Amino acid sequence: MMDLKGKNALVTGMSRDGRGIGQAIAIALARRGANVAVAGHSSLEAAQETARAIQAIGAKSFGVVCDVTKSDQVDSFVYQVLTSWGSLDIVVNNAGITRDTLVLRMSEDDWDSVLDSNLKGTFLVTRAALKPMIKQRSGKIVNIASVVGIKANAGQANYSASKAGMIGFTRTVAKEVAARNVQVNAVAPGFIETAMTGKLNDVQRDAIVKNVPLGRLGEPDDIADAVCFLSSPSANYITGQVLTVDGGLTI
Ligand code: NAP
Repeated sequence: MMDLKGKNALVTGMSRDGRGIGQAIAIALARRGANVAVAGHSSLEAAQETARAIQAIGAKSFGVVCDVTKSDQVDSFVYQVLTSWGSLDIVVNNAGITRDTLVLRMSEDDWDSVLDSNLKGTFLVTRAALKPMIKQRSGKIVNIASVVGIKANAGQANYSASKAGMIGFTRTVAKEVAARNVQVNAVAPGFIETAMTGKLNDVQRDAIVKNVPLGRLGEPDDIADAVCFLSSPSANYITGQVLTVDGGLTI
């Protein structure tokens, strides 16, 4: 039931170091048979390298640069998928940033850049993708939120607001498009081993692991598997939900 053969997908936010959640998701979708278009932000090379890895699996792929805060770049990425492959079946809104500091010290730029990349970007990509999905009367959108959108984390007021916003956005859009057979869900990762958590020092890392019942940080593949499930026919009757993948951190 997790067979995605014949499906056309796009994933935003390929990490520059090649080891982000976006890459893991793109490869996992391709392993299950989907063609996957991928977009980097500051690195075309990151996107093209992922595209080559997907082609090596035997699926179709191409990599572009797409800043998700720019509607013209987003529209053109979606258009490229449609003109290349004829349909868009799966969209994963993965691009995201952190600019951590206490709210009293937070600059307007810290606030705006996080809200723009995480929340406005999700809106722009979703809006562009819904047009073809509604027309074809099918589609799956998976938004990568965070446990920090559910549970407080001091120093991340901007990030927390953006991820909580993504969760509200997910539920509302799910309701708007349900009658057109488009399912919209979110995955809320806990702490996952990527460049984003690479900024943590050993003391911070140990403190986090102590609070994770499964006793470890997550791997990008833990998130990718959840995304594949929500993108598959196995999740046809699931919409507007948030699947927390955090080793039990929030229980
Ligand atoms: P990452 O390695 O930093 O990857 C995120 C990617 O998003 C970066 O490569 C970045 O590209 C891209 N991006 C940022 N702004 C963008 C924009 N405006 N347009 C297009 N792409 C943009 O982080 P990650 O850990 O893989 O995170 C992936 C997603 O999971 C994020 O949404 C993050 O919030 C979420 N998440 C991560 C964790 C975790 O513990 N790692 C936990 C919960 C949720 P550039 O570097 O080129 O700017």
